[in-house]
Amino acid sequence: MSQKKFRILLTSLLAILSMLLLLWLFRKPVLAPTTFNADRARSDVLTQVSFGARHPGSEGHQQMIMWLSDELNQAGWSVEVQQEGTPESPILNLIAHRNQGEPLILIGAHYDTREFADRDPDPQKQSQPVPGANDGASGVAVLLELARVIPPDLPVEVVLVFLDAEDQGQIRQQDWIQGSTVLAETLLDTPQAVVIVDMVGDSDLRLPLERNSTPELQQTLWKIGQELGYGSIFVNEPGPSLIDDHIPFIQKGIPAVDIIDFDYPYWHTTSDTPDKVSPQSLKAVGDTLLEWLVKYHGSLREE
Ligand SMILES: [Zn+2]
Repeated sequence: MSQKKFRILLTSLLAILSMLLLLWLFRKPVLAPTTFNADRARSDVLTQVSFGARHPGSEGHQQMIMWLSDELNQAGWSVEVQQEGTPESPILNLIAHRNQGEPLILIGAHYDTREFADRDPDPQKQSQPVPGANDGASGVAVLLELARVIPPDLPVEVVLVFLDAEDQGQIRQQDWIQGSTVLAETLLDTPQAVVIVDMVGDSDLRLPLERNSTPELQQTLWKIGQELGYGSIFVNEPGPSLIDDHIPFIQKGIPAVDIIDFDYPYWHTTSDTPDKVSPQSLKAVGDTLLEWLVKYHGSLREE
């Protein structure tokens, strides 16, 4: 090969390489999946239960904070840890932000699990922690999967809150719903709606209308669930009145709904394990919330 030919070859090669580099630099971001992945949500339940007890102060509680922050960061969310309470018993809420816009919507779930299974039928087991596959992990799994599938360009400010110390009531003089109480007291902006997701993994999931929830917002959500084909889950029947993480917001006059199936025989027992949780139940709730965000608040799908 002559020197001239070699130079032409080298120049062409360099040109091709720079073009490839430019194409790579300006490549389109991979579109985020926009359907709720039930299997991934189920695996998030298993991961949480594998951490063991997750009450404030436990090792599993710390692992939860690290794992949640990691997963949320990977999905493009920034995470702020709100620390309140006392130095001896801090309350740590995880607040995740990504989307910008109007209105502000807050979706929350408690990530702590009850320290003692004080409703276990076996008195010997009442001093053991609750595994919290449904009571704790199911709500968190729905929120985490939503974090991955909410369209990044949805023009709504969605804030996902992972609430601490919901489930320690009457243990060492603690109250229930401590994390949400702190959050509601320290809100800088008023959300247009607050939706709490708790105990939504039950394999025969039935969600009657919790009575302390804001009826209008509740009707909107239930109608969407029914339209998506989940009519046997989102039932138009009166449910119980519960003290859950929606209450501090209701007390502030903010519309809030508790999505919960309180009819769960393993509640606060050592049998609240992953085999009681159905991925399809998690998906029914996740699909409904995603549709609500996109259809009623986004401009991605105009009616
Ligand atoms: Zn509980």
